[in-house]
Order: sequence, then C-alpha cells, then structure tokens
Amino acid sequence: MHTQQTGTALNDTELESFISLRRQIHAAPELGGDTPHTAELVAAKLQQWGYEVHRGIGGHGLVGVLRKGQGQRRIGLRADMDALPMQEKNAFAHASQIPGRMHACGHDGHTAILLAAAYRLSSCAFDGTLNLIFQPDEEGLCGAKAMIDDGLFQRFPCDAIFALHNMPGSPVGTAVVQAGPTMASSERVRLHITGKGGHGAMPELSVDPLPVVASLINAIQTIKSRNLGPEEYAVVSIGMLQAGSVYNIIPDEASMLISVRTDTPQTQHKINQRLAEIVRGHEQAFGVSIELDIRQLAPALINHEAETEWARTSLAPLFAPGHLHSRGPKVMGTEDFAWMLAEVPGCYFMLGNGEGEFHGCSVHNPHYDFNDQLIGLGADCWVKLVVDFLQPGHA
Ligand SMILES: [Zn+2]
Ligand SMILES: [Zn+2]
Repeated sequence: MHTQQTGTALNDTELESFISLRRQIHAAPELGGDTPHTAELVAAKLQQWGYEVHRGIGGHGLVGVLRKGQGQRRIGLRADMDALPMQEKNAFAHASQIPGRMHACGHDGHTAILLAAAYRLSSCAFDGTLNLIFQPDEEGLCGAKAMIDDGLFQRFPCDAIFALHNMPGSPVGTAVVQAGPTMASSERVRLHITGKGGHGAMPELSVDPLPVVASLINAIQTIKSRNLGPEEYAVVSIGMLQAGSVYNIIPDEASMLISVRTDTPQTQHKINQRLAEIVRGHEQAFGVSIELDIRQLAPALINHEAETEWARTSLAPLFAPGHLHSRGPKVMGTEDFAWMLAEVPGCYFMLGNGEGEFHGCSVHNPHYDFNDQLIGLGADCWVKLVVDFLQPGHA
C-alpha cells in the first residue's frame, strides 16, 4: 500500500476508538427520521477532522464535504444512521439502553465505518471533492428520498455514489459487488372494497364484499404463478384483511394490504397492470367498487454496470483471491439507497459480517450485533475507492 497516497490503516488505538464509537451509537439507538443525537455526534467528528459540515438536509441528514487539489471529480459515500423499533435481547455491555429500540441492522456499524474512513481520508492525498452522506430513516425507506427532495445532489453534485451493507452469514473478508438488480423494489398496495351491507339472513338484499375478498386473494396469487416468467423475480404477499364485526351482519366494506416486491421496474409495472385488471374485473363481476391505491416505497436497487465493474477492480487488492464475488444470493429485501442510484450512477455492495450463531445471526433479529472486525476493512474499502476515484490528473 502506498502510505503517502492512501494514508496508513488505522492503528490499534485508533481502531479501538472507532469500535467504542460504534458501541456508543449501538447503546443509544434512534429511530426513523428522528436521529438528532447520532447526527450531532457524526457532525462533531467530521468538523474536528476539517470537513465542512452541512446539517438538516431532509430532516437530520447531513453531508460532510472535503475538497483537495484542483480536481473536478466528485464522489459520494453514504451511510445510514437509524435503528429499529424492537427490543434487543443481547446482554453485553453495549446493548441498547433504550427499551424498544435496537440497532439490529448494523447501521451503527455503517456509520462508524464511514467515520473511520473520514478520519483517514482527512490526511490522505486526493484531488477532487469527497461528499460523505449520512442519512436517517433507511428502515422507513424515507430518508434517502427526503435528502434528495431537499436538494442533496443539486447542492452536493456527485459523479458516482457508493454505499455498503453488512451481510451476516458470510465470512468477514468476503464481499459481493454485483452489477444490475441487487435489492428489491417495495410497494404497499391497499384495496378498499365497497359493497352494500345488510342482515346476514337476507344476503339477496346486500352486495357482500367478503366473497369478493376471497376471490381477489386467489386471483392475486396467479400474478406470480401465471403471469411472470422464470426470470421475473417478484413477491406478492397479502399481509392484512379487514372486514365485518359480528356473525349476522354482512359488512359494507372490506380492505386488504398487499406487499409487492420485484427486482426490475419492468416486472413492477407488469404486476401493477395485472392488479388493476383484476380489480376492474372484480368490480364488474361482483357489482362492488374497489379503490386501488399503490404506494411506491422504494424502487428496485440496480447497480450501474460501469461503476460496479470499476469498484470491483479498485477493491480487489483488499480481498484474498476468490473472496470478492460478482454475484450474491438473490434477496428480496429493500434498500432506500435505490433512490440515490436512480439519480446518480454507482454501486451498493455487501461485506460479510461473519458466520456462526452470533455474527451469522440475521439482521432484524433481537440477538443480532454488527461485527466490529468490519470497521477496519470497511474503512479500507472506502479509502481505496476515494483515492482511486479522485486520483490527481484524472480527466
Ligand atoms: Zn434493516
Ligand atoms: Zn440495513
């Protein structure tokens, strides 16, 4: 490694300080868009290391900017800061101090990794602009969009952006840097069926919405099984039904909530079209009216081909042969960095969090914990990408 260019890796004392910073964030989780203390902690560190800090972007989002040399290139790195509304079941010293809140997705670790990189990059040589983006509310899938809507990329233009997530179940020292569809889109679909209520003894005088619901459940299952081909990934899950009150009243109305996930906008479009057709058909066949409300929570996350290939080449020296994969397991989880990748080309990659009962424990589980071993490697990844992207003399 050229120390002059990339700065030295963190020494033991520095690494210890970032591990305790990560544990400090873990012990005091903040939820959704309400992350004032985490944001302030991040801002104070960045300022201390000479970053220009811009607070309050899309709520508690913030950007740390560091410019060096005359270079025109601009790179953005993003970390998420929010925790989850669940009770931690770990008993270690840094476990959550706040009942009902837990860093169960490792965003405490992502924040610590980006801070460790920020610290190292403050003394690295590069030529251009580094934008460090710290966003709240990834779990609610609203934080990235809120920052973008607040002018994130107009105020801090980036030629490429990158983000990472830890990946439990894969060994530390492995990574997946995959081009194309990587995380699923997420939509919340609400169907509200209005019929005509009446006495349970006189169904002929009412328009019962319940047989409509039963038929809709079956019809909606056929979207995935009958309308999509083998290469079209999707999940259509009905998660909520609501209707009626007692046994002898035919209800006026019924509602359903459905989760739709796909890995491309094309498949998403096809499903939405089929949902609309099924709804219209049921209105006609049963004489009810059905309100169809489709809310897009996040698009599919599609890594850009060129930036992904570039990132894999740049990161390769940090991984043992065969440990940097260009394809990972198919996941239908959603990640709101997808909104940022819809604006600026870039790549979202995964780092193995470890295996076994503890570090292999799935995210969103009450026994999960981010693996501190990733802080050094994660910071190495960020530093390498920045130094390579902002090389002096780059066009
Ligand atoms: Zn999560
Ligand atoms: Zn996460």
